[in-house]
Amino acid sequence: MSASAFQINRRRFLAGSAAATAGTFMVAGIDTGPALAKSGLTEQASGYYRFNIGNFKCASLSDGTLSLPAQFLARDLPKEKLEAFLKQYYLPTDTNTSQTNLTLIDTGEKLVLFDVGSGPNFQDSAGKLSDLLETVGISPEDIDAVVITHAHPDHVWGLIDEFEEAPRFPNAHYYINAVEYDFWNSEDILTKLPQQLHSFALGAQRNLKPVTERMTFIKPGEEFIAGFQAVDSSGHTPGHMSYLVTSNNETLLVTGDALTHFVVSLQHPQWQPATDMDGDMAVTNRRKLTDMAATERLRVIGYHFPFPGVGNISREHDTYRWIPDAWNWGL
Ligand SMILES: [Zn+2]
Repeated sequence: MSASAFQINRRRFLAGSAAATAGTFMVAGIDTGPALAKSGLTEQASGYYRFNIGNFKCASLSDGTLSLPAQFLARDLPKEKLEAFLKQYYLPTDTNTSQTNLTLIDTGEKLVLFDVGSGPNFQDSAGKLSDLLETVGISPEDIDAVVITHAHPDHVWGLIDEFEEAPRFPNAHYYINAVEYDFWNSEDILTKLPQQLHSFALGAQRNLKPVTERMTFIKPGEEFIAGFQAVDSSGHTPGHMSYLVTSNNETLLVTGDALTHFVVSLQHPQWQPATDMDGDMAVTNRRKLTDMAATERLRVIGYHFPFPGVGNISREHDTYRWIPDAWNWGL
């Protein structure tokens, strides 16, 4: 797989533009209905951001958005206190629209995808990866490795192509923490989880099992591909891992869901999101990861940060701040 994977298929892109001027607007090849007025200014279309880490060519790819109750950002915090905090940052106080940024890295030898999004069976506003890959001219067959942070729906439910009933990325090798795999696939998993999370377990099994024979189980600290190292960030799920990707003295931290919000996770890492399964452990690892990113001046990609979710973390007094990339046109 070469760097040419990152050259956008201009013919497809232009086809979308032509449709827009004809009165409809194409997003990733899908006709989203008639556009108002004389332009196509009714939809957001960009879901692709290019950046480099050393000699590696990278991209943030949007799988779409998720809508969750804002209270999920800090389950034990009094509602009024959370609302006052969110208002300070001009954020909605009822619904948190969470973005989903996948990381794609072309090392020159391998094309590596971190997590695969949620596929068609989670929220309608997500599961956009397949269409986006087609738009940018990358075939699912081109993906050599899929690296999984954890097995929540928005990260692994896209592993299986439901129409084909087969792996969506047929040539990929898969990497996951054995602890994470074993947790979701244990025989008594349903007795360990509240009723509302049973669909998470069944979905994880449905998607993980068909790729098990192409899977390598990895541990925190392990370098499993040259330049790719796993980091323990358990807590959000039992075997959650983040990843460090290093090329030519530059390092990217792929956080996964160790950090889930660009303001809350950095200003108040001790607040416990409703989605963290072991809240205390998640806080410990969130602090560790955030401190490392700030101290070592790492590039960071936040899976649920505002697209493209690429930037840096700076230390500010006794807390932290997200510094998003200024959109870089000159690669
Ligand atoms: Zn997530």
